[in-house]
Amino acid sequence: MLSCIVLSILSFIGGGFAQAATEYVDPDNGITFWGITDPVHLVTHGYVFPPISAGSTEFIGEIVAPISTGWAGVSPGGEMVDNLLLMVWANGDTVMGTNRFATDYIQPVPYAGPIITNLPSTKVNSTHYKWVYRCQNCTVWDGGSLNTNAFVAPAWVFSSIAVDDPSDINTDFQEHTDFGFYGSNFSAAHASAEDYNNWAAGGTGSSGGSTTTTTTTTTSTTATSSPTVAPTPYDYIVVGAGPGGIIAADRLSEAGKNVLLLERGGPSTWETGGRYGPTWAQGYDLTKFDIPGLFETLFTDSNEFWWCNDITVFAGCLVGGGTSVNGALYWIPTSDDFSTATGWPSSWSNGKHDPYVAMMQERLPSTDHPSTDGERYLEQVYSVVGQLLNGQGYNNITINDNPNFKDHVYGYSAYDFINGKRGGPVATYLQTAQARSNFRMEIYTYVSNVVRNSSTILGVQTNNTAIGPNGYVPLNPNGRVILSGGSYGSPRILFLSGIGPSDMLEIVSKDPTYGPQLPPQSDWIDLPVGYNVSDNPSINLVFTHPSIDAYDNWATVWADPRPADAAQYLENQSGVLAQASPRLNFWRAYGGITDNVVRYVGDFYLRFLYIEISSLFKQLQGTARPGAASINTTMSYNASTIFTITAYLSTGITSRGRIGIDASLRPQPLVEPWFEDPGDEPVLLQGLEDIISNMASIPGMTMITPDDTMTMEEYVSLYDRSTMDSNHWVGSNSILQVVDENVKVMGTDNLFVIDASIMPRLPMGNPHGALMSAAEHAVANILALEGGP
Ligand SMILES: Cc1cc2nc3c(=O)[nH]c(=O)nc-3n(C[C@H](O)[C@H](O)[C@H](O)COP(=O)(O)OP(=O)(O)OC[C@H]3O[C@@H](n4cnc5c(N)ncnc54)[C@H](O)[C@@H]3O)c2cc1C
Repeated sequence: MLSCIVLSILSFIGGGFAQAATEYVDPDNGITFWGITDPVHLVTHGYVFPPISAGSTEFIGEIVAPISTGWAGVSPGGEMVDNLLLMVWANGDTVMGTNRFATDYIQPVPYAGPIITNLPSTKVNSTHYKWVYRCQNCTVWDGGSLNTNAFVAPAWVFSSIAVDDPSDINTDFQEHTDFGFYGSNFSAAHASAEDYNNWAAGGTGSSGGSTTTTTTTTTSTTATSSPTVAPTPYDYIVVGAGPGGIIAADRLSEAGKNVLLLERGGPSTWETGGRYGPTWAQGYDLTKFDIPGLFETLFTDSNEFWWCNDITVFAGCLVGGGTSVNGALYWIPTSDDFSTATGWPSSWSNGKHDPYVAMMQERLPSTDHPSTDGERYLEQVYSVVGQLLNGQGYNNITINDNPNFKDHVYGYSAYDFINGKRGGPVATYLQTAQARSNFRMEIYTYVSNVVRNSSTILGVQTNNTAIGPNGYVPLNPNGRVILSGGSYGSPRILFLSGIGPSDMLEIVSKDPTYGPQLPPQSDWIDLPVGYNVSDNPSINLVFTHPSIDAYDNWATVWADPRPADAAQYLENQSGVLAQASPRLNFWRAYGGITDNVVRYVGDFYLRFLYIEISSLFKQLQGTARPGAASINTTMSYNASTIFTITAYLSTGITSRGRIGIDASLRPQPLVEPWFEDPGDEPVLLQGLEDIISNMASIPGMTMITPDDTMTMEEYVSLYDRSTMDSNHWVGSNSILQVVDENVKVMGTDNLFVIDASIMPRLPMGNPHGALMSAAEHAVANILALEGGP
């Protein structure tokens, strides 16, 4: 399988790295390196250079990795493509160190030019392997070079998965499972000639002459400095290739504007250049993100490069954003989803939003039978729960044919899969955008902040020095920036741009890198960024029924799927694997129990699986939560017949949370939004009690969570609040609060937001359908606004 190390194009632009290199002495060899030990994988990476005045093109490096590490690597230049890559793994007692090169985001291949010499302290022991190497002819390579006299951002990569053939120095390998960057002042990492020459020859210890701490120098670095890229201005810079950003960029480029779409992550589906797929699908141009039936494996795969590793809830950081990792449940919005009563401007209400829903449906129709043969598979749950709901007076409908029918209705789950594969905005809007010469997308490009002169945005600051000087990308005259970084990503960019509540801007101001870059305090724009946040509180009920096929809890679909199902899927994208796990959805309206607010209990997510996911740490936690583990042990049950009903509190939620950043500038919930208002919990409790009210009428149906030792009330009250996350975050830049009716950030001339953060309230169903029609509406408003490019 082709692989790609996901290394960002990144050079130092002012830092903002969680870690900065420090000087340390390796006790095994006495070499003074500059480097880091990453706090998660505990891999150490270090470099030391000869004196600057030597004009040398070599360095000594080391990588020290825990023995369980599949492989570890570095890119001293901080980029994957057209950069020298050094990687190492252990083959028994032998350290296998090699240099590689990639001309694209593909398998890096062995590269001629560098001369690598393993130094004597290279070793494997019971806990670690250590590669200490001299790398000659290593600061200049095809199309690039390393500035050893500057503050730079080297990259590291890590894989928990072994290379394909550890005994083969030229082996292929799968893409990393994690990566990162750190700031390093290479200009300080130069040893004396005496020490360097001693170490390079395999000697140890130091002459006492410490590393030269050359912070200023008159030495010419012309030969090795990064090429300066001329600034290329754009009419529109869109930040984030999630559904909001993709739709915005497509419509803007369709209107003839010069558009740059910047995405911090890498490719996802095969069509976008993604190559991470199961072994059984090799040769079929299918990735994990293409195959709907692999949805549940996103949460169980030890390789999880698709999640934003600096956001404490699940968020997709790759092309497509959340729509490349979500369940793809796709609901046509109701009229109420865009009413003034739900916080939308009158210019969006009373039918004025309908044309945009139609535009979305034209580009992206929904299906409730995604298998290409038109058949439905694994429908036993539909039958059992359908019977249950029939007994409660529900009607069976085609849900998206009747978007406004959301009381006592159920139907087949609807998706935006296309031809049995993940579709969504990536397979539609992005494709048309990419066909235009006035559209450009840059991946692995992280935007830290907008650069502004008071209320006027001038451009964006990125980490990608290939697209602008020091990563800065300017706007054309009258140009505009659109933030589409999602409910967590966009607020962070605003905070780092001096826009938001003062407590968040104070945090940024204390950051040694970004503090000095903030606009003067007199230019701070005080807006409630991060407030008014909602996510559906959700609670799982787990049942068994003898007719159910639990499909091995989806545990085998990645490595060892049922052969007939895999073969059927590969043949024509039909069968069980052409659909994500949900099978049935239902809604029921409730009047307020402790207030007069109508809420809907939507059981969006009916599946054959019982997993709990810690929203805070992005980890799968099995049944580790109050009241659950013992329940599973007190009742005997047949694991092959389990199914789950996840009940969400849908629209009408009155609880609100808050999103902010910590001192490391990581976005996270400051106030969790589930059951914050006392009016919400009783409604969800009532909904759960109603779901099971006639369970006795379904022969063989048994609820195992909660079990018969616990009332539903006890279950709900003990339910771990932090596991109620539904990944449906909205509201952190709510319309009419942070952005105006044209989604322009208030107090600015030319800064806009198009993503889930502008939605003032959760829609009736899982949100990405309503978000995409909102994006259609928002970008049309922007194009219609006078004064643009
Ligand atoms: C696990 C999961 C399951 C879900 N299931 C469903 C479902 O079945 N149905 C449904 O309707 N919804 C579902 N959702 C929610 C849905 O996917 C989101 O509401 C939707 O994706 C939000 O879109 P967005 O454009 O606001 O942001 P996102 O989709 O989050 O996209 C933001 C993009 O911006 C990029 N970005 C962020 N910051 C920066 C930066 N500083 N520089 C450059 N790029 C940046 C990110 O990498 C990302 O690609 C699910 C979400 C998750 C996480």
